[in-house]
Amino acid sequence: MKPSTVKIKETPSRFKHNVPKYKVTRSDACINCGTCANTCPFGVHERLEGHNRVKPPIDYKCIGFECLERNFCCIAKCPRKALTLTYNPMYETLGDYRWTADMITATWIMAETGYPPDRKDLEYNVGNSGGGFDKLRFKFPDNPPEVQRDEISTAIELNRRNDGRANVVISTPVYGGGMSFGSVSLPTMVSKARNASIWNTFTCTGEGGYPEILHPYDNHVITQVATGLFGVREETIQRVRIVEFKYAQGAKPGLGGHLLGEKNTASVARMREAVQGTSLFSPFPFHSVYSIEDHKKHIDWIKEMNPNALVSVKVSTPNDVDMVAVGSFYAGAHIIHIDGGYGGTGAAPDIAKKNIAMPIEYAISKVHNFLVAEGARDAMTLIASGGIRTAHDLAKAICLGADGAVIGTAEMVSLECVRCGNCESGRGCARGIASTDSELADLFNEEWATQRLTNMYHAWNFQLVDILQKFGMKSVKELVGRTDLLEHVDYSK
Ligand code: SF4
Ligand code: SF4
Ligand code: SF4
Repeated sequence: MKPSTVKIKETPSRFKHNVPKYKVTRSDACINCGTCANTCPFGVHERLEGHNRVKPPIDYKCIGFECLERNFCCIAKCPRKALTLTYNPMYETLGDYRWTADMITATWIMAETGYPPDRKDLEYNVGNSGGGFDKLRFKFPDNPPEVQRDEISTAIELNRRNDGRANVVISTPVYGGGMSFGSVSLPTMVSKARNASIWNTFTCTGEGGYPEILHPYDNHVITQVATGLFGVREETIQRVRIVEFKYAQGAKPGLGGHLLGEKNTASVARMREAVQGTSLFSPFPFHSVYSIEDHKKHIDWIKEMNPNALVSVKVSTPNDVDMVAVGSFYAGAHIIHIDGGYGGTGAAPDIAKKNIAMPIEYAISKVHNFLVAEGARDAMTLIASGGIRTAHDLAKAICLGADGAVIGTAEMVSLECVRCGNCESGRGCARGIASTDSELADLFNEEWATQRLTNMYHAWNFQLVDILQKFGMKSVKELVGRTDLLEHVDYSK
């Protein structure tokens, strides 16, 4: 059940011209009769009250050629045959095999409306990567036990150690990934935190300090301690309910982190206690950790400093990631956060993203099974990230053994990221999402961005509840480790 703070509100694109799948063109033959505005139920045509002329078509809302079969189709209804419908060749340039144009479009629609699009022409539950989650399908039973939507819980607990620390519960099994001040703008960070508080879940500061503007959302912020220790202070560790050690990132394991000089503006430098304009590097690895004993020392350090906080350990997915997870359990961590190789923004080099870490779908099962074999699974929360693009990916990750997931790119796409991969160049993102340049960062406001994120989380939760209902389950926790409910399209009977 969603928290009462979640309110859905129509939140359209901030751009006049989106990248639509179709072009709806109105010719000079139009007499502005208004028939198209009255007939199209999707709001492509609009005539404002008191205006004689219809507005230019908002074509990204058009459902395309399937509409030609419908009795409301504007193409047939126009008395002057002034409308034409074609594919938009620009659409081909959007996205890639993993994050397809349809998936990006669908995420935009979710962020606008709060619901998954009801369109046959958009395939947004799987991409075209030819592997990973794109090859997995759910095996829904023909006659599942009857369960009503409002009986289904998507809440999960994050502290399963029974160690006297708070049992933090989140209302949906997903939270926002670490994006530092410096890599993204303050409006992006604040809207992520506000959404986390609305959904009773979390967002993470990444490694780059804890801006004061996040203080009202302390209960829903994870502060990160990574190898550069940028912005890490006793005070920031004491503010929060979860502290995360970032040992590595799935998109660039073994490479550490870097923020190029141009994004290191005066405010970023102040937060990171660095010199403005210099490139900042977080080394790999932690030079204070070379053994499991050192790792335990790290975790003890945080626990000592904040007696209430849970400790999360974020690692990439090397071959021995299962050993790392069990080691983290014995070192006292509450959450093992494994980050696979599909994720990452434009800041991660392609050669690293595509070739180093183990794909997340293998790593989840490996870690889950090893924790079970060691008798530690019930005391450890397993969170997966690195390529969770959709609600279907989330549910598949849970079937493979995760308790929940962390997302990054999907949140950025909700804010109208086009996946251009230029996050690190020059002043940063031309859409104002991943930039600390004050001119670019002001391209959207927090109200708009928070609502877009809240809507997108709602659409995901809606789909997750759908999946659970089709399995006849009352809780998302029943889905954990149920690989028997998945099939691989290449090997299914
Ligand atoms: S229905 Fe045709 S003629 Fe009438 S406003 Fe629309 S495009 Fe113009
Ligand atoms: S083709 Fe259908 S969806 Fe597209 S603008 Fe016309 S009525 Fe609307
Ligand atoms: S739109 Fe912005 S956030 Fe998205 S990939 Fe491009 S530069 Fe990065």
